[in-house]
Amino acid sequence: MSVSYKINELFETIQGEGSFTGQPSIFIRLQGCPVGCSWCDTKHTWDIKDSEKVIATQMLNKAQENEQWSDLTINNILDLIKQQGYLAKHIVITGGEPCMVDLTPLCQAFELQGYSIQIETSGTFEIHTSDKCWVTVSPKVNMKGGFEILTSAMQRANEIKHPVATEQHIADLKKLLHDHQVASTPVFLQPISQKKRATELAIQSCIANNWRLSVQVHKYIGIE
Ligand code: SF4
Repeated sequence: MSVSYKINELFETIQGEGSFTGQPSIFIRLQGCPVGCSWCDTKHTWDIKDSEKVIATQMLNKAQENEQWSDLTINNILDLIKQQGYLAKHIVITGGEPCMVDLTPLCQAFELQGYSIQIETSGTFEIHTSDKCWVTVSPKVNMKGGFEILTSAMQRANEIKHPVATEQHIADLKKLLHDHQVASTPVFLQPISQKKRATELAIQSCIANNWRLSVQVHKYIGIE
């Protein structure tokens, strides 16, 4: 039986975060996440309800974000991207929490077609991807779901993107980097909201620690 993935959204846009900011990208948003971040802006991806399973065209043509998902094989996904006429050659697999499933076959299929691949994960699940896949770990510490950040995830990361609203988040990040022995991986601070206080804290902390700033450009320019 061919591998399939539960897809909440598939769309083309500009990557607004981290090292690939500005890169035209095809986003594949997987359904399902048990991590439970209070500020999560994709809560509609948390539960996988059989009652919300829909066909691909219904998932693609959503007028607004919702819990509907489609079960798609790798060939289904490749065909849909062709049918949609998407031109981007960079794929971002996000969620939800994409590392709840093995992403290796999906990464390899895209790489064979000449795409570069990036995943965005909370660092709370083992990461199964191709070797070339760019891994963004956005560690979610002490969330309701009770998951620990894994050393294997922190050490696999090509970049660490940490959400920031308070001084405690900065302390959490420093402890994480120390505990998981992460030394040279680029670190991005990302204000949790577009509020001035969070952004100012992120700017000051980036300067103080030689980290980089990631401001969710897509939210400032009003795209998805
Ligand atoms: S890990 Fe991501 S999708 Fe899951 S609750 Fe946290 S922010 Fe939301």
